[in-house]
Amino acid sequence: MVPSAMLAMTVDTAARRLVPQQRPVPAPGEHELLVRVRACGVCRTDLHIIDSELAPHRSGVVPGHEVVGEVVSLGASSKRFTVGQRVGIPWLGGACGACPFCALQRENLCDHPVFTGYDRDGGYAEYATADERFCFALPGAHDDAHAAPLLCAGLIGYRAWRLSGEAAPRRLGLYGFGAAAHIVCQIAVAQGQQVFAFTRAGDQAGQDFARSLGAVWAGSSQDALPCPLDAALIFAPAGELVPAALAATRKGGTVVCAGIHMSPIPSFDYQLLWGERVLTSVANLTRADGDNFFRAIDGLALRTHVQTFALRDANRAVQALRTGAINGAAVLLP
Ligand SMILES: [Zn+2]
Ligand SMILES: [Zn+2]
Repeated sequence: MVPSAMLAMTVDTAARRLVPQQRPVPAPGEHELLVRVRACGVCRTDLHIIDSELAPHRSGVVPGHEVVGEVVSLGASSKRFTVGQRVGIPWLGGACGACPFCALQRENLCDHPVFTGYDRDGGYAEYATADERFCFALPGAHDDAHAAPLLCAGLIGYRAWRLSGEAAPRRLGLYGFGAAAHIVCQIAVAQGQQVFAFTRAGDQAGQDFARSLGAVWAGSSQDALPCPLDAALIFAPAGELVPAALAATRKGGTVVCAGIHMSPIPSFDYQLLWGERVLTSVANLTRADGDNFFRAIDGLALRTHVQTFALRDANRAVQALRTGAINGAAVLLP
């Protein structure tokens, strides 16, 4: 039985906090699913929304776009999933299908996107609705809590990794060794790449964690590297890492900024870009990224490291992520 009311943690941007609210359980629209949330990952993007570093799109929104749940009811035209099935709800909750970017299979750049936990309510709640056309069936290898970080950290990390160069680079730098990097690290190591992990200075636990996942080197961005990188992915929202990563990358290498928000990038000497280095960003995801990602990790002994919190303790989880106290990913359990 689906109850009529649920607990939802909603954003209070003035207080930069989440506030618990009792809300009616939503009904699924035409192409939607009603999902009982079983786990929801805490992504750095949620912090940017709570802290208004991203312009608010909806007041009192329920964040959360790494949602693992069970389908409890279907909208009138929903056919992709069945009641009882486990599904994942990602950041891209809708795309218009008609703009030039959608027409070019670049729905991640859609002119009229709908983002989960930003434009529409997400998974920091006991129930959520989602457009089934943007949901994923989830592989069985991961339980609910361990599957949650795959839906953004994994998927967008994977998209960033794929943009890191045509020929798979041999030496890959990962700046900011959090939820995304700890997944990408395992994929890269499985592909025979050497991973160089960069954490905050003095973060011994983070560096040990990176080495435990196969990184050949771990240190801070101020430490001298034994050799230049072929490519680098920047997951930390710190603009000063852009010139640092370019300086660490060889001629012709690629530096990918994978976050949705970054502090200003300090000006830097053209020599750092010269030599056909490529600097790019990654925005959002496409459904094809999801399909490719879940195919790529099928058969890989990929392990996500999670720290779980009760839904009601979402502010504690958010604060832990803010201060860098999480190794791996924070996940809320309703
Ligand atoms: Zn579009
Ligand atoms: Zn995210």
